Amino acid sequence: GTHDTTILVIGRMNPHVVERIDRTFRMERMEIGDPALVTPELAALVRGIAASGAVSAQFMDALPNLEIIANFGVGYDNVDAVHAGKAGIMVTNTPDVLTEEVADTALGLLIDTVRELPQAQAWLKAGKWEREGNYPLTKLSLRGRTVGIFGLGRIGKAIARRIEAFGLPIAYHNRHQDNEVAYDYYPSLPALAEAVDTLIVAVPGGLGTEKAVNAQVLGALGANGVLINIGRGTVVDEEALIEALGNGTIAAAGLDVFADEPHVPQALIDLPNATLLPHVASASQATRRAMADLVVDNLIAWFEDGVALTPVPQTAGVKRRG
Ligand code: NDP
Repeated sequence: GTHDTTILVIGRMNPHVVERIDRTFRMERMEIGDPALVTPELAALVRGIAASGAVSAQFMDALPNLEIIANFGVGYDNVDAVHAGKAGIMVTNTPDVLTEEVADTALGLLIDTVRELPQAQAWLKAGKWEREGNYPLTKLSLRGRTVGIFGLGRIGKAIARRIEAFGLPIAYHNRHQDNEVAYDYYPSLPALAEAVDTLIVAVPGGLGTEKAVNAQVLGALGANGVLINIGRGTVVDEEALIEALGNGTIAAAGLDVFADEPHVPQALIDLPNATLLPHVASASQATRRAMADLVVDNLIAWFEDGVALTPVPQTAGVKRRG
């Protein structure tokens, strides 16, 4: 039974994952996935990982009996999934269960960024409404904007549906055109940025998108430009963004994700036209619980039925050994 199967929990994992794994399997824990921390006993025992943090190729290689890595989160740039695929190790993520929540947060961040709602609330709570009068009119408005979505996948499409309801035109950039949507497709990101004034980033991280939103893209967005990032911090060249926000190359940015979390550059914090959130797009109790259940359900399905519920594309062909 699963009680004889050892699962290694890596990182500061959601408590519901820990509680269910402890109840269902034999559990081991590690703060970070460091190959130097793998004892011979762990190497012999560990057959599965529940990951909230990095899982490198070296770490996988240190665990010869590892069959599956269940990642907490739909984004799995923290796991070397290409190496896992080659090594015959299944990797799963948590798609769909967080899509609508993340899209809700993206729209909240967009409105906060454009209409300065956090600053207006701070004005009220500081007593300035009574003492000094009305909060200044915002320079920016959502009205008349054209929205570009970089990464029109599950979350990008949920964002697009909301933008449609706001009455704004939508265009997008993916590597491939999606024939199921009627939005304007741009085969390059700079061309998309040229065509819109509001860019919402919902692509995965990793090498394929690293610093894709660079000085050229920000310049193409223009002086009325607004950048929203709920994808990954690595997608944006943060130094170029700080420069662009400071000198008026673009008007404002709203960010939920950063290149070196939880560190956020002070220059970004100091910018009045940057609205910053501490990676909370999926962070409600209900959505995090659904993600937690999917992590554990993947492990149970793998060890009981020999199939994963939500394999990532790089390991979709991996079969259970023996
Ligand atoms: P999907 O895989 O459904 O969508 C990803 C989209 O990005 C696809 O449309 C894909 O199209 C496109 N894409 C991927 N790579 C590239 C590339 N190199 N250049 C251009 N387009 C690319 O994923 P989800 O929508 O479910 O999630 C997207 C990401 O959102 C996650 O990977 C994660 O990083 C982030 N996220 C952030 C959260 C937060 O808390 N802030 C919460 C949840 C997710 P194509 O293959 O045609 O290129």
